[in-house]
Amino acid sequence: MRKRLTAQEYIEGVLAGNRIVLSRAITLIESQLAQDKLLAKEVLEALLPHTGKAVRVGITGVPGVGKSTFIETFGKYLTQQQKKIAVLAIDPSSQISKGSILGDKTRMEELARDPLAYIRPSPAGISLGGVTHKTRETMLLCEAAGFEVIIVETVGVGQSETFVHGMVDFFLLLMLAGAGDELQGIKKGIMEMADLVAITKADSGNEQQAQQAKVAYQNALHLFPLNSSGWSPQVLTCSALTHAGIGDIWQTIVAHREILQKNGFFYQKRQNQNLAWMHEFIKQTLEERFYTNPSIVQHLPNLEQAVMNGEQLPIHAAFTLLQLFEQ
Ligand code: GDP
Repeated sequence: MRKRLTAQEYIEGVLAGNRIVLSRAITLIESQLAQDKLLAKEVLEALLPHTGKAVRVGITGVPGVGKSTFIETFGKYLTQQQKKIAVLAIDPSSQISKGSILGDKTRMEELARDPLAYIRPSPAGISLGGVTHKTRETMLLCEAAGFEVIIVETVGVGQSETFVHGMVDFFLLLMLAGAGDELQGIKKGIMEMADLVAITKADSGNEQQAQQAKVAYQNALHLFPLNSSGWSPQVLTCSALTHAGIGDIWQTIVAHREILQKNGFFYQKRQNQNLAWMHEFIKQTLEERFYTNPSIVQHLPNLEQAVMNGEQLPIHAAFTLLQLFEQ
């Protein structure tokens, strides 16, 4: 393992926008080691006053919808306006395969070379309590390092979408103009979270189909209850190849921000997200402490066996374990 820097070195390096230090600070916050966690906390706390200003955008869609191509085009569109952007990709596979599909150099090649862009996979770790991410903390570090737009990409459609929705200001769902069932493959819950649905690949003769899909999604979104923020989810078409619609997507994000900042919902949302973060952290820490407690480690296998054999009710075994934990 590489030697750690001092807290002050991390803090100054990140604030100066030094990418090497930023990357090392992210590695530090991803570490599971107890002494790293303490150092990470100190660094994050010092950087907190320098966070919060970025536009936080979550992007999701099924594999193949064109997420990485879109982010590359969208990212370049922003860097051409001299905006500094960071792309954090939540990679659920990294822990299982021990390799990262998102680390694949062919993804967002051009953007990766752009001096105004920073791309980093954010691995989903599997702790004893379940799936853990340090994506929120990573986002804050990037903000402290001066990135103005943070894009959080999720791969696949599942649990991580809810997690990302809980940390961004704007949630963009990419969809394909599909033949037949327009809503296939995307759970209704994810549609409901979207502030904008963008139909991808509206090019090469596919424009009309994309337009039809747009109407279908607009109709589908009308069926959902009105958003309390005062924002009605939009539907647009775009092409990462011809760049059609890319500017409109950014304008929609800007308009959303203006409306929500005016009516106060923007701050309310961030307050709620912070509260939820605190509770998640408590849950995660408790779970970790529970499953690493020596008494639990000792008794869990037998009790699990007893539950599987039908000798003990699951609730009964759970109570026994909780009592052991609290002793
Ligand atoms: P991801 O799995 O969602 O990240 O999707 P990719 O960005 O890897 O794209 C999947 C495929 O769709 C690739 O073959 C891309 O070249 C293609 N693709 C992505 N965006 C567009 C687009 O705007 N137009 C067209 N015609 N093809 C696209």
